[in-house]
Amino acid sequence: MGSQLVEGPIATAVDEIDAPRYGKDEGFHQELRARVREFLESSGLPARGLAAMYVKTAVLFLWLAASYVLLVFAAETAWQALPLAVSLGLAIAGIGFNVQHDGSHGSYSTRPGVNRLMARTLDLLGGSSFVWQRKHNVLHHTWPNVEGVDDDIDTGSLARLSPGQPRRFYHRLQHLYMWPLYCFLAVKWQLFDDFATVVRGRMSGRPFPRPRGVELVVFLGGKLVFFGLAFGLPLLLHPAWTVVGVYLLVSAVAGLTLSVVFQLAHCVPEAETGPKLGTWAARQVQSSVDFARDSRLLNWYVGGLNLQIEHHLFPQISHPHYAAMAKVVEATSREFGVRYTAHPTFGAALAAHYRQLRTLGRSD
Ligand SMILES: [Zn+2]
Repeated sequence: MGSQLVEGPIATAVDEIDAPRYGKDEGFHQELRARVREFLESSGLPARGLAAMYVKTAVLFLWLAASYVLLVFAAETAWQALPLAVSLGLAIAGIGFNVQHDGSHGSYSTRPGVNRLMARTLDLLGGSSFVWQRKHNVLHHTWPNVEGVDDDIDTGSLARLSPGQPRRFYHRLQHLYMWPLYCFLAVKWQLFDDFATVVRGRMSGRPFPRPRGVELVVFLGGKLVFFGLAFGLPLLLHPAWTVVGVYLLVSAVAGLTLSVVFQLAHCVPEAETGPKLGTWAARQVQSSVDFARDSRLLNWYVGGLNLQIEHHLFPQISHPHYAAMAKVVEATSREFGVRYTAHPTFGAALAAHYRQLRTLGRSD
């Protein structure tokens, strides 16, 4: 296993971005890297390219294909369509968590071509792997919870997700109205955000380099295939209102699932926010919060995103390693006085996110 797997920050050209800079490592990151390298060696498994990931990918794609085929070609009543639409939405989010996210970080396989292919499953699902690379790998991972840089906490003025953002009168109710709005996340990406980002050439108020050549073909081709699958083909067999209704339901399930899993990791009272960065590794630990670390089912479905501390520190390591790695990371963090937080259950993390939304909406 290459030592680059336990290096950080992620190897992306971030120098041209005008954003706060990190202080020099004071030993914490170096020690973490050494211990995680040792952990990987003792596990006897490769850091990426795990057989379990190929099995998981096959299961998720079968789930997706079965839900879609039954929904479009077999469902005849609303009571048959409803559970199938929910199932399709969950399969879409599952592929995002497990396959696309890992591929885009290069942690899926040792072969760059396989990682690229997996990253591009997002284009099939209506998003854009090109836009995602900048939004997630560069802006979010390098500057988590930094207002004006991390695009994940930028909702326009819909919500106040960080204390550095201005508070508006309606934010008093954001702990109630954000949940239904999370349902529109996928629709917003699929129909508006990706196009707006590419046309404007801006993201989070900063210049966004537009896709060219192959990337532009993938961007446009992906949207075309997605619209064909979501609307074109179903419209040949079903009335328009049914097709639109089912599309909205599938996207709502996927959007809510994706939003909630992202928010529980970074938008809770324990997660560090703001532009004061300190060192890179300490920031990754303190701006992320793990949850339900002992739930094997949740861990399987969300692709290790309930272990965001480990993911932020080592995004190039395949996620099935995270649960065992967490013990090493937690112990090292405590030794170095770096705050490491984990909510015991999914419910506890949900309650923490609710509290954070309410606090940020009501006090400065
Ligand atoms: Zn990530």
